[in-house]
Amino acid sequence: MKKLALHWKILLGMVLGVAFGFLMVSFSGGKEIVQDWVKPFGTIFINALKLIAVPLILGSLISGVSDLKDISKLSKMGGKTISIYLLTTVVAVSIGLLLVNVVVPGDSITEATRTEMVSNYSENTQKYKDEAAAQKNSGPLQALVDLVPDNIIGAAGENRNMLQVIFFAVFFGVGLILLPEDRAKPVKDFFNSFNEVILKMIDLIMLAAPYGVFALLAALIVESPSADLFKALGWYALTVVFGLFIMIVFYTVLVLIFTGKKPKEFLQGISPAQLLAFSTSSSAATLPVTMERVHEHLGVDEEVSSFVLPIGATINMDGTSLYQAVAAVFIAQAFGMDLSLGVQLGIVATATLASIGSAAVPGAGMVMLVIVLAQAGIPEAGLALIFAVDRPLDMCRTVVNVTGDATVSMLIAKSEGKLGKPKVHDWDDDYQKS
Ligand code: ASP
Repeated sequence: MKKLALHWKILLGMVLGVAFGFLMVSFSGGKEIVQDWVKPFGTIFINALKLIAVPLILGSLISGVSDLKDISKLSKMGGKTISIYLLTTVVAVSIGLLLVNVVVPGDSITEATRTEMVSNYSENTQKYKDEAAAQKNSGPLQALVDLVPDNIIGAAGENRNMLQVIFFAVFFGVGLILLPEDRAKPVKDFFNSFNEVILKMIDLIMLAAPYGVFALLAALIVESPSADLFKALGWYALTVVFGLFIMIVFYTVLVLIFTGKKPKEFLQGISPAQLLAFSTSSSAATLPVTMERVHEHLGVDEEVSSFVLPIGATINMDGTSLYQAVAAVFIAQAFGMDLSLGVQLGIVATATLASIGSAAVPGAGMVMLVIVLAQAGIPEAGLALIFAVDRPLDMCRTVVNVTGDATVSMLIAKSEGKLGKPKVHDWDDDYQKS
């Protein structure tokens, strides 16, 4: 029998998970059964993915950077990467602003619904406001200071410090480049093999992916709020989803124009990472799979993917920035505010920066939205309006975040002459060979 492709298996897991979730909520006690007996498997799956992220960044970045052999190449690639990331983010925010101004979803919210939602959800939104306040109370150069860890074990001990781990790995790789070849070789060989072990571990985790997403989605369904709220926010949610869809089309066009890869091939190559992004709502948890797919299935050389993707997972969030722009203006509309062009341009700047500052975990985009709202003078209480549909939108925007990173890695690889033919490995390839 022909083996089912991984993305079909994951998709099947997702569909069955949703169906199972609906089945279980339909009888009493079903929700608790899912929470006690199914959800933990989803949590284990996400934990396993997160577990791999730090060693993967260390292994692949150190071996990738040290292969560059020349530091000027590294700084050139760094400059290019960050510029393209910024560019795609600004495009995303602009699309979001354009759509929300055309659709005006805020008009569909009556004053009664607004008051009801603000009072129902004000407690939930307080947490986001507190987190945002903690981030805001820092100086202008804090982001730069945060880049350099004072202890690598400490930095690697916390998944949120991804940029610090990246800094250490690049720094270490630069040290290796500067060492004479014979002295550097043992360490390089070690990290090359280390990296291969990690990639094999990702293969093994991916075998469990269809079951993992089943558990995650079943739990999500039994825990989701009532459908009535979704209806009130329908236009807003549709605006965000439509904008995200435009972004995916934009990426496929970019990839086609600059690398010649057909949209179908590109999307097929990256689809397991997209499905995981959707199921986990976290680009950080998806990173190991994104890296593997981009390298093995899209042909991006590891020198490029190991550098561009971890940075992208932390600073490039096009989906998040688009959502922040739509959400900010939607809340203003619902409160009857008219935003001037100047304020909207301010939103472009803050949403771009806020998406860079958002952690690659579920719900992070909403925390940073508080800062966008405050800067534009929009009532923060409005967060309560969008709370009910935030999770499904988070799932969708994470797909865009991950696809954006993959797109940029292909563009950079092409421009560096590092885009080759895909080298697909099955999980047991090396084992069968020996
Ligand atoms: N969940 C998103 C991510 O990990 C961030 C966000 O928009 O909340 O990419």
